[in-house]
Amino acid sequence: MDIVSTKKRSQMMSVVRQRATPIEIAVRRLVCGLGLHYRVNNRSLPGSPDISNQYRRWALFVNGCFWHGHKNCRKTAARNSPHLPEANRSFWADKIQSNRRRDARNCRILRSYGFLVIIVWECQLKCRDRLEQRLKRLLIRRYPSSSAGGLLEASGR
Ligand SMILES: [Zn+2]
Repeated sequence: MDIVSTKKRSQMMSVVRQRATPIEIAVRRLVCGLGLHYRVNNRSLPGSPDISNQYRRWALFVNGCFWHGHKNCRKTAARNSPHLPEANRSFWADKIQSNRRRDARNCRILRSYGFLVIIVWECQLKCRDRLEQRLKRLLIRRYPSSSAGGLLEASGR
């Protein structure tokens, strides 16, 4: 028997989907600080990028290191695969592997549409300044000449 009613369950699920993680919020703040307009979770794009601008053709995914299988990660301290729980090891390995495949497929499709795809890993938020510089460097190409006003302001000019 299902303890939680169907209605209640769908409410719970929608909360799970909609609530942004702290790392997503931190990255949104950085992008916002660059003076750029963006959309959150645009479902009309492959993989519903966490932050994107369809008109300027860039998409940014904020990936948790464990779930998305970050390689050479300092946080999960793994060179080739994330540190997996002892129980159900093969289940987690398969799950993470399929997440990685799905991520790669979405990136490929977006690139084929001419999008710049940026992956921000959870562990990269430890060096916020470096991340901000990287985002600025990558995204400025999508804002040629005068429209880069926001970015130039953000760099103190
Ligand atoms: Zn990582």
